[in-house]
Amino acid sequence: MPAAPLLSRSQMIRLRGLSKSYGPLKALDGLDLEVRRGELFAFLGPNGAGKSTTIRILNGITRLDTGEAFIGGVDIRRDPLKAKRLCGMVAQHTSLDGELSVAENLEIHGRLYGMSREDRRRSAREHLEYVEMADRAETLVKTLSGGLKRRLMIARALVHRPRLLFLDEPTVGLDPAIRRRIWSLVKSINRDGVTVFLTTHYIEEAEFLADTVAFVNRGRLLETGPPQDIMGRLGSWAVDTFEGGEMKTRFFRERGEAAECLRGLSESGSLRRVNLEDAFLSLTGRRVA
Ligand code: ADP
Repeated sequence: MPAAPLLSRSQMIRLRGLSKSYGPLKALDGLDLEVRRGELFAFLGPNGAGKSTTIRILNGITRLDTGEAFIGGVDIRRDPLKAKRLCGMVAQHTSLDGELSVAENLEIHGRLYGMSREDRRRSAREHLEYVEMADRAETLVKTLSGGLKRRLMIARALVHRPRLLFLDEPTVGLDPAIRRRIWSLVKSINRDGVTVFLTTHYIEEAEFLADTVAFVNRGRLLETGPPQDIMGRLGSWAVDTFEGGEMKTRFFRERGEAAECLRGLSESGSLRRVNLEDAFLSLTGRRVA
């Protein structure tokens, strides 16, 4: 009987027992994770949970200590360059060259990935159109607004046509209207077949965008699944109160039960739908559920 395949064709990322320590500190402590091809995946956790370490390992910036990591079926320890070519990365901090034009920034990226002159020109043009910046090709990057810089970073990450796009806090510091524009862009990139791996501190961003979310804490996976399923485990309705100087939330399956609880409270409270932030808080222990 032939050996069972290590990887299913449907997996874009597979991590098994991923561990990484910095001296005595375990940044990753046996992390298991799967991301399916084509999905929009949000990776969530409090500060220090190990999110950046995971992304750095997947992008070949940091070495793992023990465990397995595959991207698109490629073992990142055996063939790091092949794995890297499958990935595009939009880092949290602007890493564009402000003294160069928009087109020149894309050109350099294409060269780094060994693309032919014709291919990198074509791809740069296509991706500038894609992020609606075709008219900015000759603009000096340092003169662009924060939102345009973010869109340019996304275009640049796509120039070598990766199958997997990492977005590390893609909307941090952007105003709400521009954030929504980035959300639409992320959705359309994903619809066009690119798997998206997103980290964000805006939990509502993950709830709105992601097919699957994963919560991590202390370098381990706590929970993964569709946002609706994870929220549903708490209930459908929530009542928030402020008791003894602390915010408290109670969860209910039925609206009627929640309304009854609200009526019975001695202090004032409010009734609302359960959201993904509730799940985040209850799983990571940041607020007693
Ligand atoms: P997150 O991105 O979820 O905030 P990180 O992956 O950055 O978490 O960090 C996980 C843990 O590892 C933290 O406690 C952090 O201080 C530690 N850490 C990360 N990188 C280093 C490093 N280069 N040297 C020492 N400790 C580090």
